Amino acid sequence: MQITDSIRTLKGVGEKVEQNLNKLGIYTIEDLMEFYPRTYVTYEEPIHLEDIIVGKRQAVFGWLQKSPSRIPGGKVEKTIAVLNEADKKLQLIWYRMPYLRKQLITGKNYIFHGVVKEKNGQWIMEQPEIYDLDNYRVIQSKIIPVYSLTEGVRQKLLAKLTRQIIDQNTLFHDYLPEDLRIELELAEYNYALEQIHYPKDWEMLKIARKRLAFDEFFLFALAIQRLKTTKESTNSSHIIKSKMWADSFLKSLSYRLTNAQLKSWNEIYEDLTSEKVMNRLLQGDVGSGKTVIAQLALLTIVESGYQGCLMVPTEVLAKQHYDSFVNDFKFLSKIIGHDIRIGLLTGSLSVKEKKEIYKALSSHEIDILIGTHAVIQDKVEFSNLGLVITDEQHRFGVNQREWLLDKGVSPHVLVMSATPIPRTLAIILYGDLDISVIDELPASRKPIKNCVVGTSYRPAAYNFVQNQVKNGRQIYIICPMVEESEFMDLENVIDYTDKLKKILPSNIRIEYLHGKMKNKEKEMIMERYYNKDIDVLVSTTVIEVGINVPNATVMMVENSERFGLAQLHQLRGRVGRGKEQSYCIFMQSSDSEKAKKRLNILVESNDGFYIASEDLKLRGPGDMFGIKQSGLIDFHIADLYQDSDLLKLAGECAKRYESHIPSDLLRRIERYMQLSENDIIL
Ligand code: ADP
Ligand code: MG
Repeated sequence: MQITDSIRTLKGVGEKVEQNLNKLGIYTIEDLMEFYPRTYVTYEEPIHLEDIIVGKRQAVFGWLQKSPSRIPGGKVEKTIAVLNEADKKLQLIWYRMPYLRKQLITGKNYIFHGVVKEKNGQWIMEQPEIYDLDNYRVIQSKIIPVYSLTEGVRQKLLAKLTRQIIDQNTLFHDYLPEDLRIELELAEYNYALEQIHYPKDWEMLKIARKRLAFDEFFLFALAIQRLKTTKESTNSSHIIKSKMWADSFLKSLSYRLTNAQLKSWNEIYEDLTSEKVMNRLLQGDVGSGKTVIAQLALLTIVESGYQGCLMVPTEVLAKQHYDSFVNDFKFLSKIIGHDIRIGLLTGSLSVKEKKEIYKALSSHEIDILIGTHAVIQDKVEFSNLGLVITDEQHRFGVNQREWLLDKGVSPHVLVMSATPIPRTLAIILYGDLDISVIDELPASRKPIKNCVVGTSYRPAAYNFVQNQVKNGRQIYIICPMVEESEFMDLENVIDYTDKLKKILPSNIRIEYLHGKMKNKEKEMIMERYYNKDIDVLVSTTVIEVGINVPNATVMMVENSERFGLAQLHQLRGRVGRGKEQSYCIFMQSSDSEKAKKRLNILVESNDGFYIASEDLKLRGPGDMFGIKQSGLIDFHIADLYQDSDLLKLAGECAKRYESHIPSDLLRRIERYMQLSENDIIL
């Protein structure tokens, strides 16, 4: 067996299974082995019904008094069994598994494993796993991998296939140069793969993870290195001589820049007037006012006769920036006597609309282009691109760099980010990147008031929401899911909106927003929210980054324990943007102490970097791959904060291979680059 073989060569993988695995990006043996578990679980001591805690995953002793019954109809067919013990009752429900009625034997003792929920005053456990007592003892001693799934791919399938490969005992070639591996005391590749899927114990898992995390950083560093040109000190062909427009624009603002904003703007202006190409990261926590700095830089570039481009991660954000730029520049246009021409380019434009934008760009009828990654498609040709700014993208990705090289232009580059990028990463990404920091919020801001509460607080929260709406304010409510799921008892946007409409008075305008909606619909909802035609917006995390509605004063997050702290911090950043006092309500649906402690970090601090690092300290080994710090910098297995030493090491080691890369490693780098091709936001 070769590691590059198709998964079709495995037993049990036919056309259908192959297609399903493809959906997860698994095509080859290698893809499969590198589809690492999302997390790991161990199985608890089984308990009796009387010790059940609602909302928790647990193993319950069960004696089947009666054989299970089948309930046809409804959306899906159910098989139901009931456990009785003293005065306690637990209903077990399986979906689409009619064969269980034959398989489960009346009068026998089992252990059922799953989450106990309360529905209509009854305890239920959906899709419990079934064990007999002996099996359970065996499994209890193991660490069980949990994979991310898609339709048609179950845990068992992934476990079975990876097992099949490991059991064949084929040793794959370790592409990491052996001397390096030994020097760094990293586990051998095959061993690491086995232990990541089937860890013997936590210690081995840690060792395996370290090796694979190193690999990920190392390949990343090598890939960047290969793309890096001598760009760092490229002479600039876009030299700026005046900032008259920027100065007039500043005067037209209703506020004064903070000292930190002023300092950053000065640093950027200095770059623009120097003979070298700017390569700068502008880091500032949510709400610190990065957009206005981008506007100043873009205005200055346009004043000197060049074009600028602002790239953002979502369509919603692109549209918001577009609207606010058009509006903000109105006054300045009057002063300078002509329009500043702004274009919006997103994936959802029609072909015809796109063509018009392309044409206007190449003939320099657009001064500033705002858009999603659609702006770096091949067809986009600027007439004279002088500045590229990325907002909330955290890195100017591999592809973007390539795109610029293809175009043969060396515009100034400004990367704006609210995520505190560790310095180690910045160095790998940009070599000697310059960094400006906005470490101060506008003085007019009142600190956001936070609370962590249980679901019993909901009526009070709704009252509060109602009052805020009465005072003309707007509200965000975040749910983790879009629609109801059979398997997860989490709040979802659609049902939640229905519920809320029944609870709140009918004059309160409630709408929802989520990523699966059509772009036009999303835009419409956001537009109505900006225009205060919507009071309460129930949304998934699509509004996480960048959105700016200063009149919104309440952020309420349902199932907040399900989110990473950095992500919650981003969400919180959507309020507290205006003069009014803002509030953040973290609704917690489990009563776990640990979850509470985590969430309390957010209450204690409003400092993004502090929050990210404290979160880390609280995460135990079981959480190792658990909650991502931020959905934005997405390494597979490695974690930028937790593994920053490893990242630094990988960066240093990559340098040794600058002039010569062993061929095995080269294949891996090329594969890595291919895989990240579509990931503009890596
Ligand atoms: P972020 O850094 O999160 O991108 P924004 O640029 O969206 O923040 O700014 C948030 C809000 O703060 C905007 O409404 C903006 O107009 C306002 N703002 C920016 N700078 C200042 C300032 N110096 N004083 C008062 N308000 C400001
Ligand atoms: Mg922003």
